[in-house]
Amino acid sequence: MGAFLEFLASMYALAIDPLGAWGQARTESEYHARRLRFFNTLTGKKEAFSSLEKNVVKMYNCGPTVYGLQHIGNLSMFVFVDILRRTLEYNNLHVKQVINFTDVGHLSSDADEGEDKMVKGLTRDGLALTLDNMRALGKKYADLFLADLSTLNINTKGTAFPRASDYIPQQIEMVTALEQKGFAYKGESGVYFDTSKFSEYGALGNIDLRGIREGARVSASSEKRSPTDFLLWKLSGKDGLGWESPWGKGYPGWHIECSAMSRDILGDQIDIHTGGIEHIPIHHNNEIAQSESATGKKPFSRFWLHRAHLQIEGGKIAKSTGNTVFLSEIIDRGFPALALRYLLLGAHYRTPASFTWEGMKAAQTSLYRLYNAYDTFKHADTSGGESASGYRARFIERINDDLDTPGALAAVWEMVRDEKISAAEKKDALESFDSVLGLGIAEGANSQSVALESMPEQVRALITAREDARKTKDWSRADELRVKIDAAGFAVKDSEKGPIVTKK
Ligand SMILES: [Zn+2]
Repeated sequence: MGAFLEFLASMYALAIDPLGAWGQARTESEYHARRLRFFNTLTGKKEAFSSLEKNVVKMYNCGPTVYGLQHIGNLSMFVFVDILRRTLEYNNLHVKQVINFTDVGHLSSDADEGEDKMVKGLTRDGLALTLDNMRALGKKYADLFLADLSTLNINTKGTAFPRASDYIPQQIEMVTALEQKGFAYKGESGVYFDTSKFSEYGALGNIDLRGIREGARVSASSEKRSPTDFLLWKLSGKDGLGWESPWGKGYPGWHIECSAMSRDILGDQIDIHTGGIEHIPIHHNNEIAQSESATGKKPFSRFWLHRAHLQIEGGKIAKSTGNTVFLSEIIDRGFPALALRYLLLGAHYRTPASFTWEGMKAAQTSLYRLYNAYDTFKHADTSGGESASGYRARFIERINDDLDTPGALAAVWEMVRDEKISAAEKKDALESFDSVLGLGIAEGANSQSVALESMPEQVRALITAREDARKTKDWSRADELRVKIDAAGFAVKDSEKGPIVTKK
């Protein structure tokens, strides 16, 4: 877009702004809220954000298929979603958030092919193929996922977590509506959405439909009228698993659940929809086609935000090649879970972040340094020094610019190192910044173990010597050393994972 058009767009944003001109902002955050900008996959550019309803943001985040443990690539999606939510809240917006659990009907390929992932999970766990077992399997992995979110300090207060199997009637209702409006047709394996009836099909991410349609012609075996058509309702196979419906026993196609649950909980139109970049070509274009055809309203979602893939040791995460890491493994290796969060925030969400064990070490060191800095500011002499307002403005400006977390972290570190700023100001600013970053700075400084590398050399040596004494069961020597550590201003407590050392 040319500079002039961008200028016009900003004038338009001003005109519809309920708070009036920028100069009349009542608070600092109101002023910045109007500068909140996100890269919108729908338009292919960064745009000023505004919501349908004043001060309320309706947000739907595509959630996991709960047939197994979620690796850190999947979890990185929800750290991104959390930063998005916290940023919206930092701008005084109230967020109505939905994260769905797919516990039925997700085939291993998005294009209606392959094995059903839930069925695959049942078979793997040696469970009989029944709807009850499927629900139990879904609940087990949904609970493990929720525990991981909490470990990563992801805010789920007030978030709705609907399960697809609880929304079968709403999905049947939406498919029926699409059928009545002429957007669907029946084939041998189920009911399909007719993408030729939706003229804007493929607009999200500018999908090369001609390429897909021509490429697929050769192998077109199916009952689909076009290769981009997709299943709305899949009839039961040999296993007979499913729910009764007007089209016969079966289960909903994967895409319809998001459209139906989003509509049921948030209404016909929402402000933000998120997912991974792999959702753009099929899943999200299908959601748009279904929702807008069913409701007759456009757009389904005003903003579409997509996260790039996390890479592990420079390669694609893939269970099949063993290139996978789970959060439990990170914790077992002695890292605090929030060091992973720190590592993820070090890259912008639209660039493919890279996970390495070396990177985890560096992230842990930085995280503990931040905790220590906060602790120092907290106990410092508070008289004198300048205000941190310049850094506060920079932080919000960075985070409001399409969630620039690396830029925001850079502002944090510059402030921490800036000796002109008063300690009390730095402490308060860090608390405020952490409401977005979610690194647990105040809690970390109070209760987490201080990293060995950020400890005075002499204390580190005492701790190592005490560990050696304990290993040889020389308890009196270990006690002597504990007294010395204590005298140096540190407390040591023993745990299963080794000594936990805190500053007194
Ligand atoms: Zn979805």
